[in-house]
Amino acid sequence: SSWWSGVEMGPPDAILGVTEAFKRDTNPKKINLGVGAYRDDNGKPFVLPSVRKSCSVVPLQPVLASLNYSESVAVTDLEYDAQSDTERNDAGRIYYEENEPQIVMGSYMFEPEYEVDEQVLAEPEAEVLLIDQKLDKEYLPISGNAEFCKESIKLAIGDDNPALAEGRNVTVQGISGTGALRIGSTFLSKFFPGPKNVWLPAPTWGNHVPIFKHVNMDIQHYRYYDPKTSGFDFSGAMEDISKIPEGSLIMLHACAHNPTGVDPKAEHWDEMSKVIKARKLLPFFDMAYQGFASGDIAKDAYAVRKFLDDGHKICLSQSFSKNMGLYGERAGAFSIICHDKDEAARVMSQVKILIRPLYSNPPLHGSRIVATILTNPELRTIWEADVKGMADRIISMRDKLQANLAKEGSVRNWSHITEQIGMFCFTGMTPPQVEKLTKEFSIYLTKDGRISVAGIATTNVEYLAHAMHQVTK
Ligand code: PLP
Repeated sequence: SSWWSGVEMGPPDAILGVTEAFKRDTNPKKINLGVGAYRDDNGKPFVLPSVRKSCSVVPLQPVLASLNYSESVAVTDLEYDAQSDTERNDAGRIYYEENEPQIVMGSYMFEPEYEVDEQVLAEPEAEVLLIDQKLDKEYLPISGNAEFCKESIKLAIGDDNPALAEGRNVTVQGISGTGALRIGSTFLSKFFPGPKNVWLPAPTWGNHVPIFKHVNMDIQHYRYYDPKTSGFDFSGAMEDISKIPEGSLIMLHACAHNPTGVDPKAEHWDEMSKVIKARKLLPFFDMAYQGFASGDIAKDAYAVRKFLDDGHKICLSQSFSKNMGLYGERAGAFSIICHDKDEAARVMSQVKILIRPLYSNPPLHGSRIVATILTNPELRTIWEADVKGMADRIISMRDKLQANLAKEGSVRNWSHITEQIGMFCFTGMTPPQVEKLTKEFSIYLTKDGRISVAGIATTNVEYLAHAMHQVTK
């Protein structure tokens, strides 16, 4: 027999499986509501104007004028490398020397849908933007890009948080949010003095479970979502949390809870902070959607900042996948707010010892984009508008879906569609209803009835409402 004859076939990933099935469907009306990535109102992936601007400084006008947008241009690295006068810039893209028409290799430049942003073209900022700096591709330190780390933690806890001035934060760059969580679970499995289990909300993001199981920590749940109201089960959560053994670890979604879209209100967080303090629990915040819930960066950080104000020491994972649209760049951070500077130095030394044999050091480019945007006032203003634009589009799609369901004549209570927040909506549809929606209407979503509101657009919301009414009436 071969080495691996004993290896059994594992189950496919629940969410990626939905996308595979969607791709195979030939119905022109098909909709993919499974994917956890933002889409614009044309259903297309969205490169944020602030991100685009942070990377591209070249005088684009001649290039844009010479490109034919009616067809997609396929240019391979090979063709470019054949040119002796090409250079590779920081984005890993290739462009011509000065005075030649410059071509930035990047999918958006060659997409027929690319819209010219006049403002971006009008005011290039040669000193600050990434391409012009001709940066090298050396390794980052084990803990990542220092400026990125500093800006990330400031974004989460606020510039003037005393933990920063006192040097009490340990912040390292992770391989996006998932990698940050994984650094956290690895550190906790080794050093957390309490019980080696983690209390997760029921339900939670599916990946939380293996992230802790892989480091041999046990999983427990506290009540969170109430199927009767499709809202937050505040009393259930409080009751369960108040019974968690003292000194345990509790995981909290900072905002835009995945998969339910249900967030505690500010007054709920205040009460939860008290009971978590009374039980002497260590709160671990997963913040993958800062800005995505309300459109306001500070508002979405309410829980994290309130817990710190209340004197909690916290763990925190951050992701820039959604709020900067940097999915594939893998930009994220993991932080521990410690008791004092000395403790922080010791904790940092151990976190680095864990990272070194895991992946040695994190990826470079995404962290540079984030640091550039967060430190440049003009880019930061554009970014905050970008985030608000995405959040507002999602909120308006929630309104439209609800209104169209009413128009269809649905008598069900769909108020939760607009009460929930962030990218996801827990519709309350049952697995058989979801199956019908997929089979009869080519609408794809996970079996738990979760839809990604980012997949809804002006052009498909009526069809979606019609289909949802048909399967739920
Ligand atoms: N945490 C939650 C709750 C999420 O929903 C996600 C992404 O879907 C992540 C963390 C991590 O995402 P990434 O690894 O792409 O940053």
